Amino acid sequence: MANIQMVDLNGQYEKIRTEVDQAITNVVRSSAFINGPEVKDFQKELEDYLGVKHVIPCANGTDALQIAMMALDLKEGDEIITTNFTFIATVEVIALLKLKPILVDVEEDTYNIDPQKIREAITPKTKAIVPVHLFGQCANMNEILSIAEEHNLYVLEDTAQAISAKYTLADGSIKTAGTMGHFGCTSFFPSKNLGCYGDGGALYTNDDALADKARQICNHGMKVRYYHELIGVNSRLDSIQAAILRIKLRSLDDYCDARRSAADFYDAAFADVSEIQTPARFADSTHTFHQYTMRVPAEDRNHLQKHLMDQGIPAMIYYPVPLHEQEAFDHLKTGNVDYPVTVQLSKEVLSLPMHTELSKEQLKTITQEVLNYFKNK
Ligand SMILES: *Cc1c(COP(=O)(O)O)cnc(C)c1O
Repeated sequence: MANIQMVDLNGQYEKIRTEVDQAITNVVRSSAFINGPEVKDFQKELEDYLGVKHVIPCANGTDALQIAMMALDLKEGDEIITTNFTFIATVEVIALLKLKPILVDVEEDTYNIDPQKIREAITPKTKAIVPVHLFGQCANMNEILSIAEEHNLYVLEDTAQAISAKYTLADGSIKTAGTMGHFGCTSFFPSKNLGCYGDGGALYTNDDALADKARQICNHGMKVRYYHELIGVNSRLDSIQAAILRIKLRSLDDYCDARRSAADFYDAAFADVSEIQTPARFADSTHTFHQYTMRVPAEDRNHLQKHLMDQGIPAMIYYPVPLHEQEAFDHLKTGNVDYPVTVQLSKEVLSLPMHTELSKEQLKTITQEVLNYFKNK
């Protein structure tokens, strides 16, 4: 049996190797490294796949968030409500733009931002909500969109972990993650569900004016070369990465199916273990299982992780430290009382290997070792 990895990028590459190698060679031979035809083609193909009017490729997911926020009419001190249980990028860009991150707690079962906590955090200075579709499943967008409409707020979806998740809106229509708010922001970091072989990212929007502005910001604030109307940044998706993404996009649905069947295997194996809380599947959203993150009692979590590591099975903690406890965000410290769920999750979550290449044999080994831990403890 092959070594068990948290993410097996090489195994996935082996299956598309001929196409990928050829695509990279073609870009190199064409010398169209920056904004070449591959980038335009990928953009169109992703727009079709997502069912969104505009995809704006950029350099990485963090930039996508930053550019989206720069494209909105926000000013210093405006408050942006987001989740305390996410990767730092979401909050970092808010602070970098001198906006004020307002962190709120999450739901016990989905680990996603709690709409009730959003309501409680709204002030006259609130300008936007940034839900993060954590671990591959959409936050409660029906609630979030209605709160935003009620209070006239922007919604910016961080969909770095949930590309291709499908969400059923209150009117019955089905939307893809990232296409429901004013902007969706995603990442093509290698280990993401649609990952390239380096850095990459994109914004999506259905709003023509916002799309124009975001495109302009990506490109040094210019529409006409050397005429800069806005202060922008340099954020582009490489042609080589776009060429790779075009190939992988064709398999994205299969990749998601592979992840979901690994998750089903885990769920079934752990169904009768009272100590394990398997990840909840929310009725309104499909789960694309960027991570398979379960909860176990706090006193077991680190021991279970060590037991698995000792057997050659990687298991990771996403995320061990809530954002309000991070040194960089000292000024946001408001005490643990405000974040009971996030604080508890940071002590109880454990993510098992999750990727597109997990074999039945590997899944059996992983689940058996988890069961052994609880049997022998
Ligand atoms: C990965 C990730 C990002 C950042 O993406 P990069 O491409 O690494 O900049 C932002 N938000 C979340 C939730 C992520 O998981």
